[in-house]
Amino acid sequence: MKLKDLDVRKKIILANFMMIVIPVLIIVLVMIGILIGILTGAGSSVTIAATSKWAGETTNYQLQLMIDSLSEDLVENKNVFREGSTLLEICSELEAMGVHIAISDGTGTRYISPGVSPGELEAQANALHADGSPSFVRTQEGFACRTVTESENGVFSIVAAAPGFAYPAGEYYAYDSLKAHLKVILVTVGAAAIIIIIFTGSYLSKRLSRSILAPVRKLGEATAAVRGGNLDRPVGYTSGDELGQVCALFDEMRLRLKESKQAEQRYEQQRKQMIAGISHDLSTPITTIKGYVSGILDGIADTPEKKEHYLRTIYGRACDMEQMVDSLFLFSKLDLDEEPFRMERVDLVAYFEDYFAEMRKPVGVKSGFHPGTCRSAPVLIDRLQFDRVIANLADNSIKYRRGDSCLLELWLSCTENEVVLEWKDDGIGIAGGEAEKIFESFYRTDPARGNAAKGSGLGLSIARRIVERMGGYISARARRSGGLCITITLPMAKGEV
Ligand code: ADP
Repeated sequence: MKLKDLDVRKKIILANFMMIVIPVLIIVLVMIGILIGILTGAGSSVTIAATSKWAGETTNYQLQLMIDSLSEDLVENKNVFREGSTLLEICSELEAMGVHIAISDGTGTRYISPGVSPGELEAQANALHADGSPSFVRTQEGFACRTVTESENGVFSIVAAAPGFAYPAGEYYAYDSLKAHLKVILVTVGAAAIIIIIFTGSYLSKRLSRSILAPVRKLGEATAAVRGGNLDRPVGYTSGDELGQVCALFDEMRLRLKESKQAEQRYEQQRKQMIAGISHDLSTPITTIKGYVSGILDGIADTPEKKEHYLRTIYGRACDMEQMVDSLFLFSKLDLDEEPFRMERVDLVAYFEDYFAEMRKPVGVKSGFHPGTCRSAPVLIDRLQFDRVIANLADNSIKYRRGDSCLLELWLSCTENEVVLEWKDDGIGIAGGEAEKIFESFYRTDPARGNAAKGSGLGLSIARRIVERMGGYISARARRSGGLCITITLPMAKGEV
């Protein structure tokens, strides 16, 4: 998982954690470096270096260090008493300060400082109260020390004594010097820590703020674009964190807004088209009626036959208008969801068998019903409304036939959940791009709307609303062989018919 995809809460926690961990790690490394620097100089050379006096005095620490070095040497090396060994070197350093040393093991005295006997040294040590073992005594009377060292090379006892080796007045110098060293170390480490913390903190905060501010800025720009009416500009930020999710949601919202704006524009277009359609389709019969009525009033229809012809024409146009107003009323009731639907279970195989048996067709119109593999096709429909849909399809197939003859067929197919009806005719058909448009209210493929009596353009839009209210959908396609195919899909009703 990329750092970019971490959620903001985790990013903040991680950044804070790193702000602490990175400096601590670096400081620990620096400290280890300092310690290694101090410790790698270890060994006798350091011990010997430590014997150089602090402010002209030998400190207890130095004495202790030197005696410890003798013990270490006895443990670590075998031939410690050979000429030029570190042990003898340290002994001579001590002797140069006035300290006498005796080293003995189980076999007897192995080393004794020149000018003193083991017995004298014992007595001097005892006189200075270094009479237990181990002990380290430093008083104004002198210095004495005893240690016992056990090793693979044997058990060694070291006795050292220096009467008159007074407790130095300047012992604290060592402490002061240590303090000075510590000060330098602390100031160095402290300064390094502050610099490291500042750099790590500012680097991590910059990265954190960049990862938060970048999407916020992009979101701001996208919002400004939407406010300015541009619904095509995406935010352009993808990531798995919360801000990425907000940006994705914003994009989704923008697309929905775009869709609803387009739907609104379509709706507005349809509304204009509908008003134009109504006014056109009503004005044509009104003009006809007016013309024929004035013909009667002006005495143009001067024979009973003419009068009857005029009156029948007026009656016919009035019927057309009534039909159109009825369709319009049904259309608006369906639109407002005010048309009641009484759903019942109907087997479409039986329904269409009856329908085609009873169908009244003009001369030249042939029909065929093909139930396919459907032995029964149970659906939940409002029978009256469904009759309307089928009547409209049949009317259209007859109205838009080629010449006088036509073949209209209904094919059924059943799946586990759906019943699919395909209403096919071999009429004049529609152009490829009109398959959706013919379901719009008042749409007619005849752009001049020449023959209003032929149809109002409301039939298929009413059919779509009815089918959708029954849980199905309806579509159209131009047939390759000419003619139109209307497909209605309805959900299969569960259970026995
Ligand atoms: P109308 O009352 O005009 O028939 P419809 O809504 O039923 O209204 O149909 C809309 C338009 O679709 C029609 O005007 C016609 O141009 C076209 N149309 C519908 N059915 C057919 C068909 N079977 N063959 C060719 N065109 C059709």
